[in-house]
Amino acid sequence: MLIVQKFGGSSVADAEKIERVANIIADTYNEGNDVVVVLSAQGDTTDDLVQKAREINPRATNREMDMLLSVGEQISIALMSMQLQKMRIPAISLTGWQVGVETDSSYGMARIRKVHTERMREELAKNKVVIVAGFQGINKSGDITTLGRGGSDTTAVAIAAVLRADKCQIYTDVEGVFTADPRKVPNAKKLEEITYDEMLELSSLGAQVLHNRSVEMAKRFKVDLEVLSSYVRKPGTKVKEVVKNVEKMKIAGIAKDTNVARVTVVGLTDEPGAAYKVFQVMGKAKINVDVILQSMGREGTNDISFTVPQKLGETALSELAAYKDSIGFDHVSLDTTVAKVSIVGTGMMDSAGIASMMFEALYETSINIQMISTSEIKVSVLIDESRADDAVAAIHAKFF
Ligand code: ADP
Ligand code: ASP
Ligand code: MG
Repeated sequence: MLIVQKFGGSSVADAEKIERVANIIADTYNEGNDVVVVLSAQGDTTDDLVQKAREINPRATNREMDMLLSVGEQISIALMSMQLQKMRIPAISLTGWQVGVETDSSYGMARIRKVHTERMREELAKNKVVIVAGFQGINKSGDITTLGRGGSDTTAVAIAAVLRADKCQIYTDVEGVFTADPRKVPNAKKLEEITYDEMLELSSLGAQVLHNRSVEMAKRFKVDLEVLSSYVRKPGTKVKEVVKNVEKMKIAGIAKDTNVARVTVVGLTDEPGAAYKVFQVMGKAKINVDVILQSMGREGTNDISFTVPQKLGETALSELAAYKDSIGFDHVSLDTTVAKVSIVGTGMMDSAGIASMMFEALYETSINIQMISTSEIKVSVLIDESRADDAVAAIHAKFF
């Protein structure tokens, strides 16, 4: 079999952990499999690099940030290769550009365009374990790009897809995907399986256990994906197209996202095109908006509130302010003390009353809901950030 194994930052944080991971890789290799390994930077390396950059220039360009951040993964792959060689397992480390992970040019959040397979195939044919740096790629100008925080998962799935690997295993510091973040909700339950769609929602809505683009790609290319622990050797969570819902769970899980901000545009003229003008400005600035609420304002006006990624909050504000006259509104404000809490599950499509269970849990915990948005498989609410953990706990207790 051809197996892609990805190990996250905490799994390769120090020499002892590298050795433990190397044993997993060696066992897989010794069972006669072809193995491609994708690694993240060790421990907090990426955060430390971000901090270093801030000390020098808080407004560093995204190109230079990528040049810097890509370094962490290179350290991990070299060390892992050395460890495996010490164990007499033939191994070779390769950077994103040595493999040929081609991306677009959006530094800091690049999308993979193409992954070349020749070099990896060549090394696999020499019976080597191929160790690839996650999170990094190269754009058409030959510059280094990164895929966004947590992007090593996406590197792994992309490689599994192009190599048509039999399995893609994402090893991390928890035993799989849980009904809520197991670090925050101690009685969260591990899921045996979850659908691509549910996982995509969960990771887009804040469950960092898988990078959302990795799930998108896994679904598109039908990658056999599993999330499992690098500490205990037992089955994790399979992410797949359809699952057998033995327990008839109403929802698959709960996610929390505190990296959101709420923008409120007050006093829009109440006429056709007002919302269009606001969101056209956001679109041009490439700012993704999420939960939207339009409400009646003071006589003959509308207010529109919506959420944006927190780091783009200030940009959203200044962009709107720049078009104040052409859009036509009174003022715009930003609130960064909000959090989005969501429940996700394909089961809610044919089960009434799921949303009201969620709202009841919030009511019983005296948590005020600022905004609500729903789709076929999720319900999200915007609440005060300081109550986010309480909200997750209360909702979890209600459903599980
Ligand atoms: P890695 O470094 O291995 O990529 P991450 O920190 O990116 O690991 O992701 C794993 C973390 O995701 C876990 O430690 C856990 O705290 C968090 N997490 C959030 N939601 C969930 C969930 N529903 N199931 C499992 N883990 C979750
Ligand atoms: N090292 C990168 C990060 O910390 C990528 C990853 O871990 O997946 O975001
Ligand atoms: Mg991760």
